[in-house]
Amino acid sequence: MRIMLISDHADPLAEVGSKEAGGQNIYVFYLSKFLSRQGVYVDVFTRWDKKNKKEIVQVNKFFRVIRVKAGPKRYMPRDFFFNCTDEFADNVLKRIKKDGLKYDIMHCNYWFSGVIGLNLKKKLSIPMLYVFHSIGQVRFDALKNLKLQKKDYIFFQKRNRFEKKIVEECDFVVSTSPVEKKLIQRTFGIPAQKIKFISIGIDDNIFYRRNRGRLSRKLKSLVFKRKIVLYVGRIEWRKGIGTLLYAFKETLKNFPRARLLIVGGGKTKAAQALDKNEVDRLKNITRELALDKSVFFLGPHKQKELNAFYNLADVCVVPSYYEPFGIVPIESMACGTPVVASRIGGLQYTVKDGETGFLATVRDYKDLSLKINGIISKDKSFFSNACVERIEEHFSWEKIAEQYQKFFLKIVK
Ligand code: UDP
Repeated sequence: MRIMLISDHADPLAEVGSKEAGGQNIYVFYLSKFLSRQGVYVDVFTRWDKKNKKEIVQVNKFFRVIRVKAGPKRYMPRDFFFNCTDEFADNVLKRIKKDGLKYDIMHCNYWFSGVIGLNLKKKLSIPMLYVFHSIGQVRFDALKNLKLQKKDYIFFQKRNRFEKKIVEECDFVVSTSPVEKKLIQRTFGIPAQKIKFISIGIDDNIFYRRNRGRLSRKLKSLVFKRKIVLYVGRIEWRKGIGTLLYAFKETLKNFPRARLLIVGGGKTKAAQALDKNEVDRLKNITRELALDKSVFFLGPHKQKELNAFYNLADVCVVPSYYEPFGIVPIESMACGTPVVASRIGGLQYTVKDGETGFLATVRDYKDLSLKINGIISKDKSFFSNACVERIEEHFSWEKIAEQYQKFFLKIVK
């Protein structure tokens, strides 16, 4: 079986943590890696966004990443990508022709890849699957009263129009949670049979429960005899870190020795420049709330290093204003650390309220703090087994890749 996977802006081999590299990159990487381990050939086509990146990287015998020329070979804001979708599709076709490639299924990620997929589908005549990663209408509803300008309204109108077309013309939509499945049905009015729910997973070689040992000296001194609240993820407004800072100020009233560690953000200068406004805003809030001695911005870390953070934390907080799935909570739970997450999107599926953590009202810092305190005062051990069991049962990439394979076989028959 040969899969072509299109992930326009999210290169599976990119450094993750900054504004435009996060969950989708991780998802594409692990889906490809675990499918390839099961003998499925996967070629990931992604935009060639840096001159010095290799055009083709053979990750293993079955898994390649192919960079496709579309627009300039440098960073381009994701939202400008639409104008490059035709060039992307043309160059994929050229590559297929040149190398005599044949695929059984096309798996498209995010709406630009959906647009590319519709274009290719006409020429390749293979089944097309589509994964949203983010639904324009839902994101719009979450943001419309808060942050949008006139140009955003025009952009969302176009995006909604194309998402509707993609959903109608593709063969199957893959939803990553039952919550998203209902949303897709409701938003686009398509039949349930056209939507297949297959979750996102974690790699249990990376995320597992272990003792707090092997920490760097700096980290040891930060966490020594402290209650640790952890945030992991991109530094972006919709991630709700601002609300978390206010919540943490409240939490300090009950747990004055607690510390909040914030992990994520851009690594390179260019990526840091993208995050700058939000980082400055958050650092200002930190100063205004006099949290300088208890909140630490620790920058991005490789996934392998995140295991230590999840394990040392007493609670991991995901305070998003909008979250289609949210990989961070399942990584945390795999390490036995409970999660407090906004009652929104896929978080309502991954986090079992009262069992593997708590759900809190979106943008309500008092509720968020109450739920954080609820975990700290009970101790994380109260939740740890339930966290690990939930992950083993529902979120192992190995099992999820098997589900994908079964589904692929059904489609190509
Ligand atoms: N991540 C990482 N290093 C960091 C911060 C985040 O590798 O410094 C990873 C994290 O492990 C997770 C992903 O980025 O797998 C974030 O995915 P999520 O779905 O939680 O959020 P998204 O980026 O899709 O908004």
